[in-house]
Amino acid sequence: MPIATLNPFTGQVERTFEPHSDAEVDERIARADAAFRELRGTSFANRAEWMLRAADLLENDVEECARLITIEMGRPIAAARAEVHKCAKGMRYYAAHAEEFLAPETLADPSTVNASRAGTRYAPIGVVLAVMPWNYPLWQVLRFAAPALMAGNAGLLKHASNVPQSALYLDTLFTRAGFPQGAFQTLLIPASGVERVLRDPRVKAATLTGSEPAGRSLGSIAGSEVKHVVLELGGSDPFVVMPSADLDRAVEVAVTARNQNNGQSCIAAKRFIVHADVFDEFTRLFAQRVAALKVGDPLDESTEVGPLATESGRDELEQQVADAVAKGATVLAGGTVPDRDGWFYEPTVLTGVTPEMRLYAEEAFGPVATVYRVRDREEALAIANGTTFGLSSAIWTNDADEEEWFTGNLDAGAVFVNGMTVSFPELPFGGVKDSGVGRELAAAGIREFCNLKTVWKA
Ligand code: NDP
Repeated sequence: MPIATLNPFTGQVERTFEPHSDAEVDERIARADAAFRELRGTSFANRAEWMLRAADLLENDVEECARLITIEMGRPIAAARAEVHKCAKGMRYYAAHAEEFLAPETLADPSTVNASRAGTRYAPIGVVLAVMPWNYPLWQVLRFAAPALMAGNAGLLKHASNVPQSALYLDTLFTRAGFPQGAFQTLLIPASGVERVLRDPRVKAATLTGSEPAGRSLGSIAGSEVKHVVLELGGSDPFVVMPSADLDRAVEVAVTARNQNNGQSCIAAKRFIVHADVFDEFTRLFAQRVAALKVGDPLDESTEVGPLATESGRDELEQQVADAVAKGATVLAGGTVPDRDGWFYEPTVLTGVTPEMRLYAEEAFGPVATVYRVRDREEALAIANGTTFGLSSAIWTNDADEEEWFTGNLDAGAVFVNGMTVSFPELPFGGVKDSGVGRELAAAGIREFCNLKTVWKA
């Protein structure tokens, strides 16, 4: 894939970029390593001041950044603006809380370990490589960069090849705000260039958000180098609706949970698992509202669903739906590629999806919802847990016992009750099973890339 901005609304190439040479990459790694040595000697207060300034700079650039997001990956402009503000919020959150999350801890009774004083402290680990996807071009990066920099680490970003302008914006943001030169830089390299960077001894760890094959590849290289990784590899999140739920609200949220960001979110609800008592009403209302979504130019303020980010992503989705329909699934809304320019796919609702169909087990990375009818909570749980993914989940119920039962038994990194999954700086984010390892955000996220150092004194 060339490193280029390809506008998903027009299908046209807007700008192409030359990848960095090996020599340029080496220089950037050296600069990152030097920046780390400088950063580790700075205080939380220094770094917080720079981080707050970076948040202000980003918000001042909200229109430029939102436009970049929309042109590079097709996110409707109003949502792109909201993404920029969310990034600033996350940056301010870590500026305020990093010191508290990384505060030293002491053992109340050090005599139990024959010490006069004993405990732990967190130290930064060095240069961390971030391999990031195009679906939230700023947020995916900032939710790594803000905690990493506040901990005193340096960051190297290998962004997705189709969002180079977003990547280059981030290349200068932190130094403009006062961080040392090299503290956070972009490497304009293809995926094939990642291994060389990760094997460099100056690079201490890596984080990747993206597809399972990319995660497995990065994870195995990191394993062979004995380097820490965090992997966030997508999901096929269940959205379970039981009879006691507020059905109108569940339908309304279901439409957003599936179609936001043109359906390309790892934590989007993808499989709607609905109790037989409310199945007919749920699917009728859901299909009606999905069919009414406004699809169009993502730069138009009123657009709700834009094009998919890539042509290959759109083609993959089309094939997944065609496979399901050929094997007997029923289309309640959408189900086709509209006759227009750009990489559009109609918001779609399918029922009658069975284990022989690709969509039963695979992630649908676009606006395609599958709805399953279940007899009871045991069947709902079996379907919910019946994929290799385990990122997040949602359960809709007003029965306290049912709520507790699902919360305890869903195999997922998160359970949202009577709501849709959202990432918040205040709450850990990550999955189990093939959805990944490790956590981003909250205290857990900043601690991932720290050395938890035990200190014992005689
Ligand atoms: P990829 O996983 O291919 O891309 C994500 C990032 O990983 C990009 O920076 C990409 O670089 C890089 N990358 C790809 N392959 C490797 C590799 N072998 N080693 C190191 N880095 C690699 O995602 P796609 O864009 O191809 O999307 C495909 C699927 O991935 C989607 O359908 C969805 O299922 C999943 N996905 C999940 C996301 C999430 O939020 N968890 C986000 C995006 C995708 P380059 O762009 O240069 O190839």
